[in-house]
Amino acid sequence: MSKWVYGFGGGRAEGRADMKNLLGGKGANLAEMANLGIPVPPGFTITTEVCTYYYENGETYPADIKEQVSEAMSRIEEIMGKTFGDNADPLLVSVRSGARASMPGMMDTILNLGLNDLSVEGLAKKSGDPRFAYDSYRRFIQMYSDVVLGVDHHHFEEILESVKDDRGIKLDTELTADDWKKVVAQYKEKVKAQLGKPFPQNVQDQLWGAVGAVFGSWMNQRAITYRRLHEIPASWGTAVNVQAMVFGNMGDDCCTGVCFTRDPSTGENAFYGEFLVNAQGEDVVAGIRTPQQLTLHGRELQHSDLPSMEEVMPDVFKELNAIRHKLEAHYRDMQDMEFTVQQKRLWMLQTRTGKRTTKAALKIAVDMAREGLITRKDAIGRIDPAALDQLLHPTLDPKAPRQLLARGLPASPGAASGRIVFSADEAEVWVKDKKEKVILVRIETSPEDIGGMHVSEGILTTRGGMTSHAAVVARGMGTPCVAGCGEIRVDYAAKQMKVAGKVVSEGDVITIDGGTGEVFMGSVPTVQPELTGDFATLMEWVDTIRTLKVRANAETPTDAATARKFGAEGIGLCRTEHMFFDPQRILAVREMILASDEAGRKVALAKLIPFQRQDFIDLFLIMQGLPVTIRLLDPPLHEFLPHTEVEIAEIAKAAGVDVDTVKQRNASLHESNPMLGHRGCRLGITYPEIYEMQARAIFEAAVHVSRDTGRTVTPEIMIPLVGAKKELDLMKASIDKVAAEVFAEQSYAVKYHVGTMIELPRAALLAGEIAESAEFFSFGTNDLTQTTFGMSRDDSGPFLEVYRAKGIYDHDPFAQLDQQGVGELVKIAGERGRATRPGLKLGICGEHGGDPSSIGFCQKVGLDYVSCSPYRVPIARLSAAQAALGDTKGSGMH
Ligand code: PEP
Ligand code: MG
Repeated sequence: MSKWVYGFGGGRAEGRADMKNLLGGKGANLAEMANLGIPVPPGFTITTEVCTYYYENGETYPADIKEQVSEAMSRIEEIMGKTFGDNADPLLVSVRSGARASMPGMMDTILNLGLNDLSVEGLAKKSGDPRFAYDSYRRFIQMYSDVVLGVDHHHFEEILESVKDDRGIKLDTELTADDWKKVVAQYKEKVKAQLGKPFPQNVQDQLWGAVGAVFGSWMNQRAITYRRLHEIPASWGTAVNVQAMVFGNMGDDCCTGVCFTRDPSTGENAFYGEFLVNAQGEDVVAGIRTPQQLTLHGRELQHSDLPSMEEVMPDVFKELNAIRHKLEAHYRDMQDMEFTVQQKRLWMLQTRTGKRTTKAALKIAVDMAREGLITRKDAIGRIDPAALDQLLHPTLDPKAPRQLLARGLPASPGAASGRIVFSADEAEVWVKDKKEKVILVRIETSPEDIGGMHVSEGILTTRGGMTSHAAVVARGMGTPCVAGCGEIRVDYAAKQMKVAGKVVSEGDVITIDGGTGEVFMGSVPTVQPELTGDFATLMEWVDTIRTLKVRANAETPTDAATARKFGAEGIGLCRTEHMFFDPQRILAVREMILASDEAGRKVALAKLIPFQRQDFIDLFLIMQGLPVTIRLLDPPLHEFLPHTEVEIAEIAKAAGVDVDTVKQRNASLHESNPMLGHRGCRLGITYPEIYEMQARAIFEAAVHVSRDTGRTVTPEIMIPLVGAKKELDLMKASIDKVAAEVFAEQSYAVKYHVGTMIELPRAALLAGEIAESAEFFSFGTNDLTQTTFGMSRDDSGPFLEVYRAKGIYDHDPFAQLDQQGVGELVKIAGERGRATRPGLKLGICGEHGGDPSSIGFCQKVGLDYVSCSPYRVPIARLSAAQAALGDTKGSGMH
């Protein structure tokens, strides 16, 4: 017989924390807490295997599950001294989902299950509080009808509003038991009218309906979207947790809350949380009432008028604080916990590893390593490299003028400007179709907004606290968010918001600062981040672990300086064509391209050489002796051609030819397939004087800097798009010739290396032969991906989306290296190259050089360095350390 159900409570449990795959995160941690002697309401977990079974068997359950559930329910009944379905003193339960990975807000929760027309009377008598009993019943009807029966919640909200209007009151708390009875009656009528059958009274029907709804919600659209965004496989399934209800809404000695063992925004080692007196759990997360702070410290920080839990329930607070310490020490990580206090008795409803901002993640990891709770290696493994991005992004320029519009809670750090939109769908339309940056403004967000939240630069809500849906999700995404900005009134219908007498409409630009909670009118300039403190400390630790070097792709002095600041150990790719677009130079470039013979080209090239030489001098100076790999001209020539009549006239004048000649030459350079056309070293083969000019500029600059600064300057000259050894040989011969000339002219020589990019499958396969001439290889995995897949890097976006949706490829191969195909070519080329030339230096300079999982692969196949854009250098350093620790996520394609 399979075990489908695991019980917990009463100081013991059948499960453990390491059984997440089977019990889901919530179930496994409830079991662990029970085993630790922490008070959790008794309950049981139906395993994820049941979910898998359910979907594999036409949405049916295993035969023996009912028996196991009823046995587990009996154990709860024993512990609680109440019976499920008893009318006099009913045991009520909650039913919640719990997947392996936490999926906040994605799945549905049902509270107070087990109430019906008779047991509500029993609950009223037993609790001595009919108001509480009927309030609980109406909550149950509303939640169950919405989640299980599919009756939209707005029906119930309308009824509640009209009852309140009739009574002339504003707050739910002002309603009496009789009012709630009326609400219940109307709710039930509404359900009957909507469904043609009454609200279920049989508690077993209620229970199995709820279990089915949890499993059903695993396949709802928002869960599917969340899984897609977080790369969670559908096959994992969810568990279902059924647990005795405890009530935070039985009076003023009751409360419910959410807390973190350390501050999830800053990482400060301070207890942090929010709670609501006389409320049920969902009230906190839904952001319907503004919660109170847990601690006095938190209250002071938030300038809150409301008393903290530390002040109003000091004894329970102490108990909760002790549990905080116990859980953090046990899990050795920051925990996010949910609790309920029923008549002064504390119950823990959940603990899990808390989501945190990257800033907090760094502080917590560094602090915990210093506290001796974890090792430095653990600390390195705890930081998601991709999330470092959050820290590397600009914040508002403190000196920039700004016009404050409103102030809310600093829910997720970072500053962002954009045009405001008022719905998640609009956000997607504005971003995808209109190519605009947007700030999504909502009263509050809910899980169905996830797609729109993802594309937005920032999120602004007018309701809810730091643990509201918007805040939690935005922090997870690394998107700036200001939450609970109560001064703003949103009018969805008019697509407007009003604040302090001002009307701001859809499409108007605002700026939000998720670090301070401020909202500004218009766009406010930003400044670069500071990279000191915990960041610098972690980066120091990282550098002692990693073996892969990290270089940057940079060509301008600004980029090179940024790269140095972020810790780049050289330039892995200087794309020289990027140096030609400057308005001063483009004219000479065009003149060169449009020249009809070598002599004409040489005249134009002579105008370019001073610019090129200065560019390289600047780079060599900034890089202070670190390696600099310079790639000779790569792109199809037509990319530089004039487009407008004005430009054509200008070039004709400069070159001393007529406009028609320019037009004809323009047309003759047109290619149907420029990506596979006259580019890369093919340009050097057909117009050797271009590469000669570039080589001369490099050598003259190297001699100049070396002589002036006394530093070793060893340029690495790289030939693009090589497919045959002969191509490289020809180019190398002409580079060597220029070098000899320059060194003779200057009576000064520098060392240099000539290598090649490996970005064509043919080059990868013939790497053994190419390595006879090449002194280093740099994998151009952008082109290598393009040519291996036979998919244009410029045109594949739209159909790749479909490919991903159909599960053909898990990832965009241009963002994450295809280890199976492209990776295999990288591996082959490395092996063959090193067989010819032992110790051949291998690097990667495609986009993949900054992608964490691709970096793991680079480590595995023995590359010497990765090269990525300057902002990704810290990400690459951390990824490289994790790769060295064998901590790679390792992914590939199907
Ligand atoms: C590449 O192809 O991976 C590469 C780095 O070169 P580019 O992107 O300039 O073609
Ligand atoms: Mg390339």
